[in-house]
Amino acid sequence: MSRLFRILAISFAIALWMAGPLAAEPAKLVILHLNDWDRIDAVDGAGGAGRIAAVIKDEKAKAEASGATVIVTFGGDLISPSLLSGIDMGASMIDLANTVGLDYATLGNHEFDFGPQVLRARIAESKFRWLSGNVALKGQPGFPGAVDAAVVEVGGFKIGLLGLTTPDTPLVSSPGPDVTFEPYASAGARIAKALKDQGADMVIALSHEEYTGDLALMRAVPAIDVVLGGHDHLAFTHYDGQHAVFKAGSQGIFVGRLTLAIDRIEGRSGPKVVWKPDFAQIHTSNVTPDPAAQVKVDGYLAKLDTDLGQFIGTTTTELDSRRATVRNGEATVGNLFADAMRTAVAADVAIINGGGIRGDVTYPAGSQLTRKMVFTELPFGNRTAKLLMTGADVLAALENGVSQVEQGAGRFPQVSGLSFAYAVGKPAGARVSDASIGGKPIDPTATYTVATNDFMARGGDGYATFAPAKALIDDRAAKLMASQIMDHIAAAGTVSPKLEGRSRRLD
Ligand SMILES: [Zn+2]
Repeated sequence: MSRLFRILAISFAIALWMAGPLAAEPAKLVILHLNDWDRIDAVDGAGGAGRIAAVIKDEKAKAEASGATVIVTFGGDLISPSLLSGIDMGASMIDLANTVGLDYATLGNHEFDFGPQVLRARIAESKFRWLSGNVALKGQPGFPGAVDAAVVEVGGFKIGLLGLTTPDTPLVSSPGPDVTFEPYASAGARIAKALKDQGADMVIALSHEEYTGDLALMRAVPAIDVVLGGHDHLAFTHYDGQHAVFKAGSQGIFVGRLTLAIDRIEGRSGPKVVWKPDFAQIHTSNVTPDPAAQVKVDGYLAKLDTDLGQFIGTTTTELDSRRATVRNGEATVGNLFADAMRTAVAADVAIINGGGIRGDVTYPAGSQLTRKMVFTELPFGNRTAKLLMTGADVLAALENGVSQVEQGAGRFPQVSGLSFAYAVGKPAGARVSDASIGGKPIDPTATYTVATNDFMARGGDGYATFAPAKALIDDRAAKLMASQIMDHIAAAGTVSPKLEGRSRRLD
């Protein structure tokens, strides 16, 4: 009995040994993916460096225990916009990205928000590799400190990685005149071919573009197997059996996990590499933050609190942000904020809702202003959009703005670059008169650029004509209103906003 068992066992072992090389397990690559992460701490209890670090640590340990190779990838938009990055120009986010353990990242449009010089400094501080395949500086392909591609070895397979950045970046950020962006399809095809020529068995593109652009890249360049994306903040999975596009939302609320089982099989024309994906979005709300990462986050929050308390300028005139003031007529604080936004995005006019100014206090003439004051006035984290609109639509927006003055509605328009009169005794929708932009009567058929906040740009507070307007700076590219206003005050040192008859009530 025992002899028979021994013979059976030995035969079985020999069979296994012989079958081994043929039935080898596929190689396993686990990609942990993040994109559009600019907040140091959690948003509504999820995301933030502490939770992201904890998920990455845990997933890495599990994957490596199963024999997988693990890489952590980032789909762009790290160093801006946030209140803290408005002060430290993104240095804190690089530190936190180093802490959670990114391996490879592509440049997002927001990486250029502080100009190419600051980006060079941020790249130099990064312990991970920036991939940039379609950016050129002064006509020279690439961006200093970044590389166009990398190769990762996974159990005998070579996995090529490349990085691409939306060619819209010059329209929505500040790369300057020397930085140019090659179209996706040509750059993607060129680098994918170079990777294949170097023996890559698979090619993965890190992309910062809308999903429609990612799908177009996937179809235009068959050599790219997987696109790991960002930019539109979607948690997105597309898989057609041959190619995949995968994105993980924003702010690390999800950590995307893409597991690839990679194998070599005998095809009709010889051996070929095949892969099978498994997609997961790991929600971070029930995760205990990694203590070491959270200590860093708490340190930055304390620093932010200190920085917010520092004086950035003085007002020589009274600023009145009381509710009844900002919702009932022209207010000096409204003029200051609207001027700052209009200047920041170089728009013809700015229109913001009085109800978005929340401090409900007065700052006497001579007051020293702090960042905290601006943040208190604008607590919603709104961003500045820039719209292209007809004069007729601007007039319709002003009519909406003064349509509920008698109720003290928050839609009352605080403006810059334009002036108008209104009569509350007239029916809503027919109250505005004598409206002019830059000192000239508004031409209903002309087009104007309008700065406003993202809430109104989506049609909020009844601004229906804003929602369909062409966005020159949309939600994805917009910067924080509060940061622009802080920068405006800090650059001026002294501000003196006055009541100038920008909106004049006739009755
Ligand atoms: Zn973006």
